[in-house]
Amino acid sequence: MTTSGIRVRFAPSPTGFLHLGGARTALFNYLFARHHKGTFVLRVEDTDQERSTGDSIQAIFDGLKWLSIDWDEGPFFQSKRLDLYRNAADRLLSEGKAYRCFCTPEELEERRKEAFAKGIPPRYDGRCRDRSHFPDIPHVLRFRTPDIPEIVVRDLIRGDMRFNGNLLDDWVIIRSDGYPTYNFAVVIDDLDMGISHVLRGDDHINNTPRQITLFEALGAPLPKFAHIPMIHGPDRAKLSKRHGATSVMAYHEMGYLPHALVNYIARLGWSHKDQEIFSRQELIDYFDLDHVGSSPAVFNPEKLLWLNAQYIRNEDPSTLSSELLPFLKPVRHPFSPGPDTKEPNLDRIVEEWKTRVRTLTELAEAVHPFRDQEFSYSSDAMEKHLIPDNKPLILLYSQRFSAISSWTRENLEEVLGSIGLECNLKLGKLAQPLRAALTGQNVSPGIYDVLLLLGRDEVLRRLDRALTFIGQHK
Ligand code: GLU
Repeated sequence: MTTSGIRVRFAPSPTGFLHLGGARTALFNYLFARHHKGTFVLRVEDTDQERSTGDSIQAIFDGLKWLSIDWDEGPFFQSKRLDLYRNAADRLLSEGKAYRCFCTPEELEERRKEAFAKGIPPRYDGRCRDRSHFPDIPHVLRFRTPDIPEIVVRDLIRGDMRFNGNLLDDWVIIRSDGYPTYNFAVVIDDLDMGISHVLRGDDHINNTPRQITLFEALGAPLPKFAHIPMIHGPDRAKLSKRHGATSVMAYHEMGYLPHALVNYIARLGWSHKDQEIFSRQELIDYFDLDHVGSSPAVFNPEKLLWLNAQYIRNEDPSTLSSELLPFLKPVRHPFSPGPDTKEPNLDRIVEEWKTRVRTLTELAEAVHPFRDQEFSYSSDAMEKHLIPDNKPLILLYSQRFSAISSWTRENLEEVLGSIGLECNLKLGKLAQPLRAALTGQNVSPGIYDVLLLLGRDEVLRRLDRALTFIGQHK
């Protein structure tokens, strides 16, 4: 339901995957629209024919879909709206607000070099402004930039920003191939789509004065502008590959939950008191531009990992199991537990594990030994616990476990308790070799949960396997 007249858009250029900065811009627009019961438009800015690709368009849709950032109108493709830009340009041309320019790229380059040599900022010198002869050769259309000494950008995040109007030259609006330039298509579309608020990355700030003069030349009201500060890495440099993965889908592959990432990027530049964890509805309820800061946000991968761990821990086991399926390693030798324990289903294993891992990849690694008999031992487990010194202890476990009447927690506690007393070992020292033998790892759910999940037959088989391993690696 749209009741507020608020209309925003996410307008990606499909020249690569959806990166964290783009996802955050999309999210802020989405949250702003949902908070105000407005409309969120998706517009693909694919007029750069050389750099736009179908794969990138798909990658952007995939990223938005995975994050559940849905839109109300579109996707619109600029490449399919060329007539609109052409008509708008013709109108400006007929009103004398645009003109044909026949300067060739070589001539422009020559003049740029000259200006550079003289230390003058390179700008188009207006040579074709008052031209009356129009040869039938390729040309571009340029906007006749009005003589305005100062352009004020009223930004909802940064306040008023003043730009020297004399620095703007007559910029190209339609290229010689008939395609619009970025600044032109954006304004025509924002106008055509009735965009009320332009929320975008502050790497576009320098484009905004140009866009404002064009809105004014078209006699159109200005949308409100809000430029979102960049995302920096921990070293305060602009976020890039060097700081780790920047593609949203790479986080999918690394085992992050989509809402954990949404929660994390929502907090990059925006805050609500000192709350860290937000449901989707809370984000919608609380989001506002007043609490978007004006300094760059710092991406902290450790915090994202922490947040992901919180989401994994709070997720219900069956949802988590289905999210886990694509991450599971192939099972070569599935084990079926003996009569004393039920087949441990994935939900049950996940339930034991979810408080101890931070990503679905870690979870997949952790549950593997509970699904496959041929799991491997971690190097830590081999070096610290599966060593000759522990052979007698593992043998003792094997004997005592064979002898207990029924496979219950109480009986198992009794076995460990008595072995602890006999060998004078505290639970840590007592359980670690057992844990390493049963799971191949040094960390696992509680040892009794592990024993119960596996069942007696499998436990005895694994103890044998560990003894053989130790025997072979003396
Ligand atoms: N297409 C531009 C980009 O991907 C965004 C344009 C805008 O939001 O005005 O950076």
